[in-house]
Amino acid sequence: MTETALETATADIIGAEEQHVAHNYHPLPVVVSRGEGSWVTDIEGRRYLDLLSAYSALNFGHRHPALVAAATEQLGRLTLTSRAFHNDKLGSFAAALSDLSGKDMVLPMNTGAEAVETGIKVARAWAYRVKGVAPDAARIIVAAGNFHGRTTTIVGFSDDPQARDGFGPYAGGFTMVPYGDAAALEAAIDENTAAVLIEPIQGEGGVIIPPDGYLRAVREACTANNVLFIADEIQSGLGRVGTTFACDREGVVPDLYLLGKALGGGIIPLSAVVGDRDVLGVIHPGEHGSTFGGNPLAAAVGTTVVEMLASGEFQQRALALGEHLQAQLESLIGSGVTAIRVAGLWAGVDIDPAVGTGREVAEKLLARGVLVKDTHGQTIRMAPPLVIRSTEIDWAIEQLKVVLAG
Ligand SMILES: *Cc1c(COP(=O)(O)O)cnc(C)c1O
Repeated sequence: MTETALETATADIIGAEEQHVAHNYHPLPVVVSRGEGSWVTDIEGRRYLDLLSAYSALNFGHRHPALVAAATEQLGRLTLTSRAFHNDKLGSFAAALSDLSGKDMVLPMNTGAEAVETGIKVARAWAYRVKGVAPDAARIIVAAGNFHGRTTTIVGFSDDPQARDGFGPYAGGFTMVPYGDAAALEAAIDENTAAVLIEPIQGEGGVIIPPDGYLRAVREACTANNVLFIADEIQSGLGRVGTTFACDREGVVPDLYLLGKALGGGIIPLSAVVGDRDVLGVIHPGEHGSTFGGNPLAAAVGTTVVEMLASGEFQQRALALGEHLQAQLESLIGSGVTAIRVAGLWAGVDIDPAVGTGREVAEKLLARGVLVKDTHGQTIRMAPPLVIRSTEIDWAIEQLKVVLAG
């Protein structure tokens, strides 16, 4: 096709989406048709370095050969049974993930929001059946600035007006405290508190890293008051920050890990709640589930993800490359960047309003072959695949420098 024909094809595809896909997102104007490793190609043949990785769902890059092989092999045998029957993949996946997490057992679901909902149900069931909280009195403490997904219950305890407003009535039973303030959190605990639900690093919030010692203090407050600590590691977990879990940065072990995104290897939705038997064991047959949860295709991919993480290689890469990224970003402070927050290979970069909005910077980076996503107006978020090379990071930073220079 000629260049104009290709441009028309791009416009047609975007036009069809605008006509027939509900406007619940505002994508950058690029139509991606292929991906490999850290790179994607649009339908006009232009290549882009993917610094978003589908919000960390692509931690291992696009079409990692080991993950594609696992999925392909499984597609040739069995894809879905429902949990009405056993399949020959779920048990070994759960055993491997339990082992990686140092926990007893796994409750498999599909999306991150389902893992959060599952964590809420488990915490309430534990409060009534184990802790002895009066019926319907259980409360869960959450943090300001949180992002835990998009269901009606979850948006009800968000303080982001875009996520929450207009979708009530909201479910009760949640108490919000400032993020990063362990004293405020402990003060909010009472005899009805079932759990504390927090992100160890707030991703959608703009890669907000709590003060040193916060996670340890939350752990201590939960233990002292017989309250479950639920860590939403859906975006922060599975290698992103240079450790298997972001909680590892403070040597903290929560009662429940909520996992998703990268667990499905960028191929299939797969989420999980991981915990010990004294907590996850409160759920009995018929009380919770999902038709696709624990399906053999997802389990096969998830097992390979866990095997890849078990070697520690990806965590090491995230740590080393993250230090490199941080040094590069630090050099931009004062030159179009007002602040940065970096944890492993994960960065929130605040753009000087004099340069433009986060969205404008993302659009200009797109034109230079770099994909990022803005969040909360002035911030751009970077979460490159953990397979990225340091020379590719250098190139992306060069493009950012050009954009910031206007
Ligand atoms: C993305 C995300 C979720 C929701 O996951 P979905 O798969 O989009 O439902 C929940 N919590 C955190 C921290 C996330 O980043």
